Amino acid sequence: MSAPAIYNFSAGPAVLPEAVLRTAQQEMLDYNGTGFPVMSMSHRSEMFMSILHHAEQDLRQLLNIPNNYKILFLQGGATTQFNMAAMNLAHGFKRADAVVTGNWSRIAYEQMQLLGDTQIHLAAHGGELFDYTDLPAPDTWDIAPDSAFVHFAINETVNGLQYQDVPKLSDGMPPLVCDMSSEILSRSFNVADYGLIYAGAQKNIGPSGATVVIIREDLLERCPKNIPNVFSYRAHIEKNGMYNTPATYPIYISGLVFRWLQSQGGVKKIEQINRIKAETLYSAIDNSGGFYTNKIHPNARSKMNVVFQTQSSELDKTFVLEAELAGLKLLKGYPSVGGMRASIYNAMPLEGVQALRDFMLDFQRRYG
Ligand SMILES: *Cc1c(COP(=O)(O)O)cnc(C)c1O
Repeated sequence: MSAPAIYNFSAGPAVLPEAVLRTAQQEMLDYNGTGFPVMSMSHRSEMFMSILHHAEQDLRQLLNIPNNYKILFLQGGATTQFNMAAMNLAHGFKRADAVVTGNWSRIAYEQMQLLGDTQIHLAAHGGELFDYTDLPAPDTWDIAPDSAFVHFAINETVNGLQYQDVPKLSDGMPPLVCDMSSEILSRSFNVADYGLIYAGAQKNIGPSGATVVIIREDLLERCPKNIPNVFSYRAHIEKNGMYNTPATYPIYISGLVFRWLQSQGGVKKIEQINRIKAETLYSAIDNSGGFYTNKIHPNARSKMNVVFQTQSSELDKTFVLEAELAGLKLLKGYPSVGGMRASIYNAMPLEGVQALRDFMLDFQRRYG
């Protein structure tokens, strides 16, 4: 049975590697000879504990996560992490810093303000009028050594912006807290540059429902005792990720994705392919003589979410419609941004990107 000839450019929940879905299909009714479907295993059973353990180990290997960092698979998505980060790490601090560079870091900044006594200071924002076409360089961020943390989103999924060089703060600066939802595992980086990293699974890891949290051990001491356990990193760590029932099936699929990534040569290898994929689309845009445009400053263009438009929103609609018929699915941009957005995460094969590039050329020949 061959796969249907479609390419899925969804921003999330996003495309998963076909090999992973086939394995899941084979193991749907009987996981590894246990007689159990993964979905019906107790999360405390040895069978599931082993799945969780291996997923953790493989993630640790792929990202080279140092031993003084803990890994959790929580529920609630990145949106819950906006608040959990503040609840756990800002207690007792007068100030925390937030960088706003697009849709998601803006929501994080707004939501963090709802909690308690800590002032959430706007350390930097993208674009003069928050138009989110460029990124403020980390050395221009207005941050303070006595802040609880500095929060930012490294890749803005909606707006199509991405920090090319991973920001690194000088010694004595507060820990970086990073929303990596739409780029984790797409390129190599140094985990030790961060205090806390989180990512909803449904962009570049697995199905929605699991949220990866990577936290430096010493920060757990900050978690206040008077917050509900379900929001406490420390409570989740103390119970080995089993304080409440984790999202067992999404964790299982995420584990399969980690193994698939290892079989592809790991993060360094996928990073090379991701670079070629992004270049393929941006050069098609740049070489279109203005037929297609991308408003993002060249140094801030995302390699994961390529946002582009034609000269008119009418023509954008035609593009999306005809692309659908050609098997290039879910290219419609985010409502507030409009135009098109091609999300080209790890699981999007180069062939899919080339098919989109070819379609763009053909569309321009017909409408240009
Ligand atoms: C999708 C996304 C979110 C929101 O994720 P939820 O799982 O819906 O909470 C937050 N941040 C970024 C960067 C995202 O791409």
